[in-house]
Amino acid sequence: MSGILKIAFYVRQTRVLGPYNRFALWVQGCERNCAGCIARSMKDRRGGEAVEIPRLTDIILSVKGVEGITVSGGEPFLQAEGLSALIKAVREERDFGVIVYTGYALSELSGALLNETDTLIDGEYVESLDDDKGFRGSSNQNVVHLTERYGNCGYYDGNEGRKTEFFISGGKRVMVGVPSRSAKKLWRNL
Ligand code: SF4
Repeated sequence: MSGILKIAFYVRQTRVLGPYNRFALWVQGCERNCAGCIARSMKDRRGGEAVEIPRLTDIILSVKGVEGITVSGGEPFLQAEGLSALIKAVREERDFGVIVYTGYALSELSGALLNETDTLIDGEYVESLDDDKGFRGSSNQNVVHLTERYGNCGYYDGNEGRKTEFFISGGKRVMVGVPSRSAKKLWRNL
């Protein structure tokens, strides 16, 4: 396996981007221009860090106590081939759940990355439809269970508010999770 992924950053463990402890990866590059985007630094495809997929595979496998990975960005499906190769390599070694946040609608997607995805949160962020409810950024987006892995785990059944965590990663401040209005305000004021 070879190839690279352009990534913005990763955190080894988070509890706010899906059920259980998760590795979380943000890819670099997105061609949309959603008003109110909180990931503007991840839009430029020339930015970020180029990481060889075997190295990233080893990093993920070195983290103990995570049930799976959540991939966000940026737009994961612009790097679908590399991400599917990464996930397949991890899954060769370990049972690993996969959650992907995308700006595309499910009806626009097909292929290897979708086939490796257990739960997809689809649709672009629409600021005017941001209702501050959990799991997704705006009410046009959907939590779609493509396998049974997370469909019956109870995590997505609740009506919990949004949760965020803040990290320092590689000298950068990182906000993780779908932020509430108050978390966004706090983030902008930091
Ligand atoms: S799809 Fe996501 S990263 Fe891209 S512009 Fe919209 S909110 Fe920002």
